[in-house]
Amino acid sequence: MEPLRSPLWLENTSLFTVPVRITVVVLYREKALKSLNKKLKSVLPVLVAVAFAIGCKPVFAEDALVHPALSHPTAASGVPAPVKVSSPGGFGHKEGLEFAKTPEYKKEFDKAIDSAKLHCVEFIKANPNSLNKAIISDLDETLLDNRPYFQDVKKDFTWADFEKWVFKAKAPNLPATAEFLKWARDQGFAIIFLTGRPENMRVVTTANLIKNKVAYDGLFMRGDNDKRPASKFKAEVRKKIESMGFKIVVNIGDQDSDLAGGFAINGEKLPNKLYFVQ
Ligand SMILES: [Mg+2]
Repeated sequence: MEPLRSPLWLENTSLFTVPVRITVVVLYREKALKSLNKKLKSVLPVLVAVAFAIGCKPVFAEDALVHPALSHPTAASGVPAPVKVSSPGGFGHKEGLEFAKTPEYKKEFDKAIDSAKLHCVEFIKANPNSLNKAIISDLDETLLDNRPYFQDVKKDFTWADFEKWVFKAKAPNLPATAEFLKWARDQGFAIIFLTGRPENMRVVTTANLIKNKVAYDGLFMRGDNDKRPASKFKAEVRKKIESMGFKIVVNIGDQDSDLAGGFAINGEKLPNKLYFVQ
């Protein structure tokens, strides 16, 4: 059975153009309720009843993270795709989804993660006093798992549909990467995300990472009108990060374009046959 959830607030988005939030509901949450005076406590049920009577709906913490007020309107207004996304050598998302269920996929994934961890261990051993070590990690299909979106794709991938999915901020973590990054951060590595997602997705991407309990130190994204190939854009950002004084010990991603162009001691390629990014 699902645990009982306490809403953050009640709101009605159909009555007015600006959402109406009945904040008294927040006061039902444990600590706030205790500190409330008697008089206000007695009128709370009435206020809540009124809120429901005018059609307000409860908003829970996890939904509030992607409250419409936070979402960027361009999900519907069509900022063009920032990169060329296609399917490699005869593969499509269906084949990619099937591949992701195979032992081969898991083996490749685990091998890359184990190797990344080993590089970190060796670096620490050789540089026990290092204070500027960093991991660069891609997001999509590296940490964030978009398979729930691809499972619903009827025909071909379109950037507009993918954008709508991203704006839901609901991509789960790929557990092996999440665990590796958490471990590395505990060892003193800065965790810096470098994604081809454009800046107009920053708020929802951050919301997704917070929801997934991912701790990190930086998030570099592509400019909204940046049309450079991912390999070029990402290598230039890594160069910039190294010029800030970081030593990139491991760069991890699911595309060759995540790793091309240097500015990292080690590169780890995760498997992905869902799509190919130039
Ligand atoms: Mg990726």
